[in-house]
Amino acid sequence: MTDPAFNIIIVGGGIAGLAAAIALRAERRNITVLEQSPFNKEIGATISLQPNASKIVEGQWGLEAALKEQGSMVDEAFEVYNTSGTLEMRIPLSTKERFGAERMMYHRADLHQLLKTKATTAASPAPPVQIRVSSRVIGCDCETGEVQLETGEVLHAHLIIGADGIKSTLRTAVLGKEIDALPTGLSAYRMMIPTTKLLQESEFVSVISPEKSCTTMVMGQDRRLVMSPARNGSIYGVVALVPDESMHESSSHTSWTTKGDHSKMLSSFAEFPSWAQRPLHLAKDVGLWQLRDLDPLSSWCRGRVLLIGDAAHAMLPTQGQGASQAIEDAEAVGAFYEDFETKGRPESGLDVQHVNEAIFNCRYDRATTIQAYSRAAAKPATDPGSTKVKMSPAEFMEYNCSYDGALEWARRSTVVS
Ligand SMILES: Cc1cc2nc3c(=O)[nH]c(=O)nc-3n(C[C@H](O)[C@H](O)[C@H](O)COP(=O)(O)OP(=O)(O)OC[C@H]3O[C@@H](n4cnc5c(N)ncnc54)[C@H](O)[C@@H]3O)c2cc1C
Repeated sequence: MTDPAFNIIIVGGGIAGLAAAIALRAERRNITVLEQSPFNKEIGATISLQPNASKIVEGQWGLEAALKEQGSMVDEAFEVYNTSGTLEMRIPLSTKERFGAERMMYHRADLHQLLKTKATTAASPAPPVQIRVSSRVIGCDCETGEVQLETGEVLHAHLIIGADGIKSTLRTAVLGKEIDALPTGLSAYRMMIPTTKLLQESEFVSVISPEKSCTTMVMGQDRRLVMSPARNGSIYGVVALVPDESMHESSSHTSWTTKGDHSKMLSSFAEFPSWAQRPLHLAKDVGLWQLRDLDPLSSWCRGRVLLIGDAAHAMLPTQGQGASQAIEDAEAVGAFYEDFETKGRPESGLDVQHVNEAIFNCRYDRATTIQAYSRAAAKPATDPGSTKVKMSPAEFMEYNCSYDGALEWARRSTVVS
């Protein structure tokens, strides 16, 4: 008689959910991802993965060549300007020797699509992950493993991964109460500009080469521009961080697809050097995100359910670690469940609960520390009335990027304590 299959439901098909699907995929496992959206489009934005995560995605999961084909770029430096337009810092980022992998820049849609392909490809001995789109989950019983969909359909699984993002429904099921993400006082405009257009802007290109593989930051006291190329330098991504109150835009906007007001954005950066404002002038579609994060939760797991990614530890994007931590979570889930069927029994709620607790214990301190660092990195970049940039974007890099997977981290933590 063959062993019963291990049935896994992943709620949410974002970066965390797809990464967990890849990490858990194995023979005799049935994995279903339930995604509420129709999945027809990821947002147009650049995303950087830090070495701690790029080594998992590109190395361990073997996506380096496929991402390169889409124009992935190695980030070679942070270049930090002040609002007078002076270059204050150039921090070289060749991180391979130091951290075992590079800081990588992608188009977000490319990363998402390739994770999806890796999870669902038939070219693997393990059954392909099933992705069900337009499938919104409205509730979950953590002890029995019952998942309720908006349509009234009820599904069951031995293990449920809650990867349903910052407004997580599964977080409420795990904690027994609703925990809202907190406004951080910051909002972000995001836009993508074709590099060919920027190259016609002589004032801009006299300072910045938009095809160059580097991240440019222009730091004001309470607002900043973070700009980087993607797809082999053919597009240029800009994130413009502003205090909420200076935008006079509705604070209820938390969706990826909210439209920003172009003229309000321009007036927010009127004091910045005129070359730095050029990409903002050129931007056609401007997205707006009110940035929220979570205080550390008391737990990420209950019974058969484990929270990962933004559902567990949403953080500010000031260190580009949100998706990177989601990928670390996914790798941890894969590592702790790797030989589960030989040691534990999927049908035993207790066996599953114990593994989920071990993952939580392994991941909690690190993700919580990086959440706190992300808040620290959002503090004013200059003193009032001064243009001197007093913070360094590399301040927390040593801790953030020194990572070699969950099992090694757990061993290291045991030795230290
Ligand atoms: C301006 C900005 C810039 C950023 N830049 C970076 C960066 O450079 N590098 C980096 O590492 N991180 C970055 N981040 C953070 C990163 O985008 C997030 O941390 C990451 O996307 C979280 O992934 P996730 O899968 O946990 O959540 P999400 O991406 O939110 O995915 C959750 C998924 O679950 C689905 N879902 C939600 N509820 C349900 C439900 N009830 N039923 C079914 N499905 C559901 C959603 O539709 C969604 O697809 C940035 C964030 C912002 C705002």
